[in-house]
Amino acid sequence: MLPFPAVSQKKRIAIVPGDGIGREVIPETVKVIAATKASVDLTPFDWSAERYLADGVTIPPDGFAMLARDFDAILVGAFGDPRVPTNIHAKEILLGMRFKMDLYANVRPVRLLDSSLCPLKGIEPRDVDFVVIRENTEGMYVDAGGFFKQHTPDEIAVQEDINSRKGVERIIRYAFDYCERHTKQDGSPRQRVLMTDKANVMTYAGGLWQRVFKEVSREYPQIAAEHMYVDALCMQMVRDPRAFDVIVTNNMFGDILTDLAAGLQGGLGMAASGNIHPGKTSMFEPVHGSAPPIAGKNIANPFGAILTAAMMLNHLGLNSEAEKIEAAALEAVRQKKTTQDLGGSLRTKEAGDWVAERISKL
Ligand code: ATP
Repeated sequence: MLPFPAVSQKKRIAIVPGDGIGREVIPETVKVIAATKASVDLTPFDWSAERYLADGVTIPPDGFAMLARDFDAILVGAFGDPRVPTNIHAKEILLGMRFKMDLYANVRPVRLLDSSLCPLKGIEPRDVDFVVIRENTEGMYVDAGGFFKQHTPDEIAVQEDINSRKGVERIIRYAFDYCERHTKQDGSPRQRVLMTDKANVMTYAGGLWQRVFKEVSREYPQIAAEHMYVDALCMQMVRDPRAFDVIVTNNMFGDILTDLAAGLQGGLGMAASGNIHPGKTSMFEPVHGSAPPIAGKNIANPFGAILTAAMMLNHLGLNSEAEKIEAAALEAVRQKKTTQDLGGSLRTKEAGDWVAERISKL
């Protein structure tokens, strides 16, 4: 008999497939995680449009506290269903996790696995290897604003952009810390943090971001601190993505930039993301949404979700399992064992099967 109770070393992961293609790509991702034989306990949750339409529940009242208490990480598919036009369930579940669990850093790596996936000419995988760190709890997403004289010819709509000193400082510091701790795919160190804004027009919010960026960057003299206006950055991203290393920006610009950046990687079906608060239960989700037009057809690309799982396992310290997933996904892309959006002929399930089988042979 041990003098203390046995403690499970298994990482506890909540699985929330959600809506649309989330319900197709997440089962494939679970299959792939299982193939790595990672020491994890996976617990599914049915929070979704389906559930909301059935019993009016978006997420139970103690949902966020339970996730924070009982789980090491959360893997989410996507939310959004035409049958719930208000998108209330998506707001309460997804934005709820980001805001109420204070997952302030949305980390979106932008990596090209194979030249064939990039629409730009003459670009090699090593040329597209940067990360966007998006502020995840403030900005235009806080739902502050309102209508005045609604439904009259004099109607006015106000949408506030909220930027707190604390919020701006912690995301900028996160970006510098990330730069310090992470290497590029080829093993070379990350060396530059670029803050992007539209401070020439949005002078108050931009002014705060500029001041804080200058101050925090002084604490990291070994890292180059750069700045670009977001419109110029968009052009640069498609002219020469090699220019970027770590990009930090606000909630809205981060959302838009990472859809553009996903185009460099092979489309929305390839992009992974993590919603992180260091030391707290964090949430991982592919960048894509529920994609209603292609949902239920078994044609969605599962790689964004599968690569998101690799990111999550890395975050949980399961690095060799994460490496296996990344190696198998790379191999699949090279051998065109992919869905149609990447030029292959596999269906969602077959693509997931291929990756899982490849991993079990590694
Ligand atoms: P959200 O606002 O919720 O992020 P969105 O409106 O940006 O969603 P998505 O649902 O991400 O849009 O998808 C837009 C389109 O991109 C889809 O209709 C589909 O054509 C394509 N797409 C997105 N994800 C995938 C995927 N995993 N596989 C294949 N195509 C995809």
